[in-house]
Amino acid sequence: MTQARLASCIPLPLEHKVLVTVIEKAKDWALMHGVGMRDKKHFTKDAIQIAPFVLLPSPFPRTEFNKAIELQPILNELMHKVAHDDDFLEHTLQNTLQVDEFTAKLFEIWVKVKDEGITQPISLGMLRSDIMLESRCPHTENQCAKHTPYCSWKQVEINSIASGFGHLGPVSREIQSYILRQLGHGDLIKNMPENRALSGLCSGIIEAYDLFGVPSAIVLFVVEEVSYNICDQRFHEFEISEKRPDIMIYRKTLNEIFEETTLNDKKQLMLEGYPVAVVYYRSGYEPAQYPSSKEWDARLRVERSSAVKCPSIHYQLAGTKKVQQALAAPGALEQFVRAELCARVRDIFTGLYSLDFDESGERAVDMALEDAERFVLKPQREGGGNNLYGADVRAALLRMRRARERAAYVLMERIVPPTVAGYVVRPGGAVPPPVTDLVSELGIFGVIIGTRDKIYCNRQAGHMLRTKLADANEGGVAAGLGALDSPYLLDA
Ligand code: ADP
Ligand code: MG
Repeated sequence: MTQARLASCIPLPLEHKVLVTVIEKAKDWALMHGVGMRDKKHFTKDAIQIAPFVLLPSPFPRTEFNKAIELQPILNELMHKVAHDDDFLEHTLQNTLQVDEFTAKLFEIWVKVKDEGITQPISLGMLRSDIMLESRCPHTENQCAKHTPYCSWKQVEINSIASGFGHLGPVSREIQSYILRQLGHGDLIKNMPENRALSGLCSGIIEAYDLFGVPSAIVLFVVEEVSYNICDQRFHEFEISEKRPDIMIYRKTLNEIFEETTLNDKKQLMLEGYPVAVVYYRSGYEPAQYPSSKEWDARLRVERSSAVKCPSIHYQLAGTKKVQQALAAPGALEQFVRAELCARVRDIFTGLYSLDFDESGERAVDMALEDAERFVLKPQREGGGNNLYGADVRAALLRMRRARERAAYVLMERIVPPTVAGYVVRPGGAVPPPVTDLVSELGIFGVIIGTRDKIYCNRQAGHMLRTKLADANEGGVAAGLGALDSPYLLDA
């Protein structure tokens, strides 16, 4: 497949000596400003190593960037409404529950807490809508010609739990600004949009804390057993502690929450004698991270409590890939989005198809078998590395064609973003690294706080850019595939 290309922000390659020198400076800048992660191979709490980063910012069309920023509050509200539409969630997830144990367990908790009566009507949504430019124009020839080499962007997914990069997003802009200055191109920094993701997301936590309204209350971050992405997590704590020295933050795993918390008679979640105001999941979607019944019990206890949850269980259900697919089905958006906005939202969806055992499911299977390269097959999982591409889509569909398991997947049209040449700096990687072809995925953060009937705040809250090798299917930075990056806005 030949992909459209965008030009890098300065001509490449850079001269060998210049490159080696600037990389050495940049690595030190990275280590001294928290552009880091813990080493997975040689884990120690005493050191961090650089996180992989792209040396120069990647081009992104300004009009498309602005469109994404402007649309985010509309997407926030869409998610909020979907999360509060019991019938829609129940109906949409019905078949998935039969075959996907993880989603079924979440659903079970949701039903239980609904039956008992919701203790905390306020939800804190910290969302991240991930998008890619689509270089193969899905619309008309004319439109594509106008916007070459990209047409518009399409949504990859929207995350409702553990949306990371609140710190790594903005700091990627800072390190690349530093690099541009070192290369004598400081004038280009004006094309890198400001990014207040960290402060925007932390303000969300603080607003939820204040709505809880108990002065001695604390904030609880739910973390994985071993945190590799420690900088991204800790900077949220540092930011909150600087803005609000009165708010204490605890970090606990679900196992610790099971052992160390109780519910008092007011349904407050109590930890070390303090009521918990906000529970913020920094991890906890990956089924592998919920192996034990203790962890599920902890999740249930949190959900029963009066703490404001980010996300609460219905938000997590609303963030499943099955719900994303259902929203792309004809007539679905209209239930949640004002008529005059529907076309704008629909335009960001790429083809998404159910694989349920009905007429449209069969049609989708046939379509994918005919041209598997055009599709991605996605199970109800988060965190990268679970999707199937190309030949694997075909093999999986042939295997599952008559198996119930099929309904646990959704089929999605593959987005083909334009490529750009660049350098990726990795821990332990070659210096200088080779010039490689890269593709990017932009994430836009959103914060929304509200109840079923009332929205207290709804805003766009910054962005992050992740970039991977053009021929890699997936690009998770924590998974070691992608690299931190930030957008360089292009005027058409
Ligand atoms: P996860 O929950 O694992 O993050 P995603 O839907 O975000 O699941 O998929 C993981 C990665 O796979 C994305 O970051 C992107 O790089 C790639 N990907 C997913 N869907 C598509 C698609 N439709 N077209 C192209 N790449 C995709
Ligand atoms: Mg993703």
